[in-house]
Parts: sequence; structure tokens; C-alpha cells
Amino acid sequence: MKKLLLHVCCGPCSPYVLEKLRTAGFQVTGFFCNPNIQPFREYEFRRLEVARLAEKLAWPVVFAPYDMMEWFAAVRGLEREPERGRRCPVCFRFRLSKTMLHARANGFDVVASTLSISPYKSTAQVNEQGLDLAREFGVGFLAENFKKRDGWPAARERAAELGIRHQDYCGCVFSKAERLLHLRK
Ligand code: SF4
Repeated sequence: MKKLLLHVCCGPCSPYVLEKLRTAGFQVTGFFCNPNIQPFREYEFRRLEVARLAEKLAWPVVFAPYDMMEWFAAVRGLEREPERGRRCPVCFRFRLSKTMLHARANGFDVVASTLSISPYKSTAQVNEQGLDLAREFGVGFLAENFKKRDGWPAARERAAELGIRHQDYCGCVFSKAERLLHLRK
């Protein structure tokens, strides 16, 4: 059975993807690495939701450190980019490179991410970064598009069954500001 390290962006996106990968025969460990989430209170909320889920689904999950300053340094100069613009691939790369590092150090065969389940994210941007990092780290990357074949509504339904709510912005302060501006219009 192949050992897969799944980068987990949040609770509601995870159960559907986890169950799909388990059905496909992978032994899945989660890796919650999201210092892009601000403010810290929201980060804690999302982290605890994943911890609750992990217990419920008998799922091992590793929680990476919350290095917000390192994340801000990575996206410096891209603050005014819209969601799905040039800041997001840098953000994906940041989180996926930490996942790759952990995977390589701990003998995982392949890395995947829940990120492509969201209709608000570009699957091409996620997979481009993942495949490039796979070459750099020498660990496989599963370039999936989990939203295809009605993956997104199915993921929402599964999250609702488990009592996990979807958040109303992607994660960073810039996406939160964009969301607030959109609501004001
Ligand atoms: S909008 Fe989302 S993916 Fe893009 S930089 Fe912010 S947190 Fe990262």
C-alpha cells in the first residue's frame, strides 16, 4: 500500500478527499500546514476542526508550525493581487514545499493536496507547483482535480454530515479584505 501525505487546507474540504484516496488504496496521513490563515483565531478554529475530524475518522494528521512571518515574507510584493492571481501560486508552493519536506524526511511515496477541491482555486496553479516540487524533492505528486465529477457538491454534503461548516474566505488577510469589499458592493 502506498504511503500518501495529504496536504490539508481545512476541515470541510478534507473528508471527501480523504475517503476518495482511501478507496483508491492509499494509506493516508494528513499534513495541516497553513500559516497563510489569518487572523490567528481563525487559524486555531480551522486547526481544531481538522483535529476533531481526525479523531472522528481515525485519521493520523501532523500539524506543522504556524510560521506566519515566513509566509508574509514569501508573498511580499503580491499583497494587492486578487484571489487566483499571482500571490496564490506562491502560497501553494510555500505550503506544498513544507509538505514535500516532511514527506521526504518520513518515507512517504507521494504527496497530494485538498486544495484542488475548491471551485475558488485554480487546479492548474496547484498542480503546476506540486509537479515542479515533485521534481525538486524526488517525491511523487498526485496531480488530481478533486472538484471534477461533482466533487465540490459531494464534499460539501459530506462536510455537512460531519457537522463541519465551510468558511467564507480563503485564508489570508488579503482574501478576507477582498471578501469584505465584495460584500459591501
Ligand atoms: S487567497 Fe488563498 S491561496 Fe491565495 S494567497 Fe490568500 S490564502 Fe493563499
